[in-house]
Amino acid sequence: MNAGVRKYVYEPEVTSVAIAGQSMRFPVRRIYCVGRNYVDHIREMKEGDERDPPFFFQKPADAIVEHGAEVPYPPHTSDFQYEVELVIAVGRGGRSIGIASALDHVFGYAVGIDLTRRDRQRDARAAGLPWEVGKSFDASAPCGPICRAADIGHLSAGKVTLSVNGDTRQTGDIAQMIWNCSEIVANLSLQYALAAGDLIFTGTPAGVGPVGPGDRLVAEIASIGKLALTIGSREA
Ligand code: MN
Repeated sequence: MNAGVRKYVYEPEVTSVAIAGQSMRFPVRRIYCVGRNYVDHIREMKEGDERDPPFFFQKPADAIVEHGAEVPYPPHTSDFQYEVELVIAVGRGGRSIGIASALDHVFGYAVGIDLTRRDRQRDARAAGLPWEVGKSFDASAPCGPICRAADIGHLSAGKVTLSVNGDTRQTGDIAQMIWNCSEIVANLSLQYALAAGDLIFTGTPAGVGPVGPGDRLVAEIASIGKLALTIGSREA
C-alpha cells in the first residue's frame, strides 16, 4: 500500500449537467443569478427601480438538480417558491468582456428554476442581511440539459413558461429581459473573472408562487426544451 498515491483525504465530487445530444457532461464551476430582469416581476415583488443596473448573487455549484429529479421540500421555510429562468452556460472565461464579443463566451443555454425560500428572502431584505438563506440552499438550482449554441444558435427571444400540476403559472419571453444575454455576460465579467463551467440564471418573469410536497413543476423555454421536477416531502 502506497499512502502517497491519494491526493485528497476524501474523493471530491464534480457537479455536472447533461448536454443535449452528447454523452459528455458540463462540469459546473460557479452559479450566478441575476436578481431582477423582467419588469413585470419587479412590479409583483414591489421592489427596485426598473432601470437599476443588474445585480448578481450566487448559489453553490452543488445545488444543481437535474431534469426528472425530486427536490426535497427544504427545511427553514413555509413559502417555497419557483422562478423559471433562462440559464447561460459559459464555455470560455474572461474579465471585462465587451458586449459585442460576449456571446463568443457562451457555450449554450438551458432551462433553470431559481428555487427560493421567499419568507427567508423577505426577512433578509427587511433586515438588510445577505440573501444566502433565501436563495443559496441545498438543491436550489434545478437545471435542465444544456443545448449547445453551436446547435441552436443564440437566443434573443422565445417563450418561457412554468406550470404546476398542469396549470400554467408563469409566462414570459426572453425578449422581455431588461438586460439581454450579451449585457449580462459583459456586466458580470466586470465584477468577477468568468470561467468555463459558470452558469448564469438570468432572472424570472412574473407569476412566481409557492409549491408543496407532491407538486409537479414543468418549466419550458422555446428552442431549448423542458425541465420537469417533483417536490418531495418536507425535510426534518
Ligand atoms: Mn431568480
